[in-house]
Amino acid sequence: MPSILAHIIYSMKDNYKLWGPELYLGAQGPDIFFYVNNNKYREIGNKLHELSISDYKELMKNFPEGYYNGFISHMELDEKLHPIINIYYSESKLHTKFEYNFDEILSLRFIGNHFIENKWWKILKVNNIEKISTEFNRVLKNEFKINIDFKFAYKKMLKNLKLLFQYPYLKIIISKKLKLFGIDYLYPKILENDIDKLKHLEEEFDKILEGD
Ligand SMILES: [Zn+2]
Repeated sequence: MPSILAHIIYSMKDNYKLWGPELYLGAQGPDIFFYVNNNKYREIGNKLHELSISDYKELMKNFPEGYYNGFISHMELDEKLHPIINIYYSESKLHTKFEYNFDEILSLRFIGNHFIENKWWKILKVNNIEKISTEFNRVLKNEFKINIDFKFAYKKMLKNLKLLFQYPYLKIIISKKLKLFGIDYLYPKILENDIDKLKHLEEEFDKILEGD
């Protein structure tokens, strides 16, 4: 689920002491690998979504607490929301578009602005990237026998988010940049047809936040 804000809000539901960039970055889970326009990174992003929460509780014991909690929350929310999103859109592009629409709704409601007006590359920037990256690379090596650099994906993500959101209304420039990494639907309009579907998703999200 490449939805940034839904994951951040969900990660904030338990312990306010952990609120901050490490929690929010963790809450992006393995999605950060999707920001690298490279099959190896995409594949690992997909594979990491197949591991269970209990796997991660074991694998990520040595990660900083904020990042750890955020990451677990990512997997939890994916598990809870994907079946609902898939009722409406199971095909991956439409699924993603629907998630961006949902982020827009959450942004208007929780932050009071449009999703594209937020400086995501700052919100997700952590001080402790070395520690997180070292631990993550170790997991990738041990579990998948693969040499992929977490920090590279992280930097790519920040860079791309900056390109995308620095000048949110300069769509001509942005749409050119978008093509560089294969995305052409980052600020999709909410279609009339989707309003009820998004309302349903929001109701389910609220229930999950309240712990149903
Ligand atoms: Zn995900």
